[in-house]
Amino acid sequence: MTDEAPFDVAIIGGGPGGYVAAIRAAQLGARVALVEKDHLGGACLHRGCIPTKALLRTAEALLESKHASTVGVAVNDATVDFAAMMAWKERAVAQQADELEKLIAWRKIAVFRGEGRLVGPDSIKVGDDLVAARKIIIATGSLPSRLSIPGANLPGVLTSDQILELDAMPESLVVIGAGVVGCEFASIFSALGARVTVLEILPRILPPVDEEIARRFQQILRSQGVTIHTKASLQEIRTEDDRLRLLFALGEEHQEVVADRVLLAVGHRPSSDALEAAGLALRDGSVTVNDRLETSVDNVYAAGDVLGLYMLAYVASYQGIIAAENALGGSRQADYRAVPTCVFTLPEIASVGLREEEARAQGVSYKVSRFPFSALARAQLLGQPLGLVKLICEDPSGRLLGVHSLGRRATDIIGEGVLALRMGATAQDLAHTMHGHPSLPEAIYEAAWGIIDSPFHLRRL
Ligand code: NAD
Repeated sequence: MTDEAPFDVAIIGGGPGGYVAAIRAAQLGARVALVEKDHLGGACLHRGCIPTKALLRTAEALLESKHASTVGVAVNDATVDFAAMMAWKERAVAQQADELEKLIAWRKIAVFRGEGRLVGPDSIKVGDDLVAARKIIIATGSLPSRLSIPGANLPGVLTSDQILELDAMPESLVVIGAGVVGCEFASIFSALGARVTVLEILPRILPPVDEEIARRFQQILRSQGVTIHTKASLQEIRTEDDRLRLLFALGEEHQEVVADRVLLAVGHRPSSDALEAAGLALRDGSVTVNDRLETSVDNVYAAGDVLGLYMLAYVASYQGIIAAENALGGSRQADYRAVPTCVFTLPEIASVGLREEEARAQGVSYKVSRFPFSALARAQLLGQPLGLVKLICEDPSGRLLGVHSLGRRATDIIGEGVLALRMGATAQDLAHTMHGHPSLPEAIYEAAWGIIDSPFHLRRL
C-alpha cells in the first residue's frame, strides 16, 4: 500500500454502486477517484431503471387517456408518437445524467474517463494514466446474457439495451424470459400497442415474486392480450422475409411464433472479465466478498451487480455505501433481510421478505391476510383498482415475515413494508399506526387488521 497515494479511494465503475460509493467516501472527507468507461450513472440511468420508467410513463399516460372520459376528460383517439416517446426518454435520461455529472463535480470527485484495469491492490490503469489509491472499490456491474441457440445473434434479436434504441414500434414482439426485465418490457410494449408473446423456460413467470402474486399478474397480463407460454424451451430463431420465426418446444409439442422483433431477457452476467488477472477470487464470474464487502485481495472492496447476488440498482448503492465506509475504517456488515423487489409493470408488483411458498417450505407457523385494492377508496379514485396487498405474519406473534403487493404504485407503498420488516414490526404495530386517508398504503394497514382481527372496509372475507 502506498501511503503517499494521491487518492484515499478509487472506484472502478460509475453506476449506482460506484458513484454512490464515491459520494459516500467524499462525504467522509476522502480524496476520491471514479473511473468510468462510458457515462456516469451506469446501466440503471442509461439502459435500465430510468429509460424504462420513461417508457412506462408513456404507457401509463396512454392508458389514462383511455379511461379519461370516466372522470370527465374528453380525449379523442389518443395514439403513441413513437419518435416523440423516444425523445422524451432521451430527455429524461439526459436530465438525470447532467445532474449526476454536476453532483460528482460538486463533491470534488476526480473522474477518469476510460476503461479501468486493476493492475495491483492499489492501482488502476486508465489509458495512459495510473490511478493510485490506498483503497479500491470494484463496481463494474453486469451485462445482458445472450443465448447460445441458433439465430440468437440475428438482426432484430435484441438485448434489453438494444430495445431501448428502436426507431419504430414493432407490431409484434416475442420476449424470451419472464423475469423482471421480460415482464416489464412485455407489459410496456403491450400497453403501447404491440402484439406480445412471452416464452419462459420455467413452469412459472417472475421467479423472485410470491407465487400467488405472480399467478394473479399473469392473469392480468393475459387479459391485456399478452400470450404467455411457460415451460417453453426456445430452440432456434430463423429469419423469414423481414420477420423472425421462433421454434420452441412446449413439452412434447413443437410450436412456432413469428414476430418483428425478439427481446432476450434471460438474465445478466457479472462484468468481471478484466478482474481475474488482478488475482481476485471469482465464483462463476462473480467477485466473491465477505459481508463487509472485502474481496480476496487486501484493500480491495466490491459492490453491485459484479457480486452476482441481487443485481438491483438499490442493492448496489447500499453495498457501495458500506464498501466506502469500510474502506475508510468502518466495519459495517451488509444486511439482506429486507431487500425489496420492485417490478415496474402495469400494474406494478413489489414485495419484501418471505414469499408464502418459502414460509411453507421452512415450516414456519404463519397467517396470511389479503386486502384488495378494489375495496380501497384511493385506489378506486385513481381508476383500475386491480390487485391486492398480501401480508404474511408469524403466528401467533404477528411478526411480519413478508409483504407482497400487486397494484398501482405498489413499488411506492412497499417502502412501509421494507422498513417494518427491517425493524422487526408486527401486524399490531402496522394496525396501530395511523395512515393518511385516502391513500394507497392504507391497504397495508387494512391487511394488518386482517391479521389481528378483520379489515374495516371489506364485507367478503
Ligand atoms: P432474471 O434472471 O430475473 O430473469 C430471466 C428469466 O429468463 C428467468 O425467468 C429465466 O427462467 C428465463 N430464461 C432463462 N433462459 C431462458 C430460455 N432459454 N428460454 C426462456 N426463458 C429463459 O433476468 P432479467 O429479467 O434479464 O433481469 C436481469 C437482472 O436485472 C435481474 O437481476 C433483475 O432483477 C435486474 N433488473 C431489475 C429490475 C427492477 O428491479 N425493476 C428491472 C430490470 C432488471
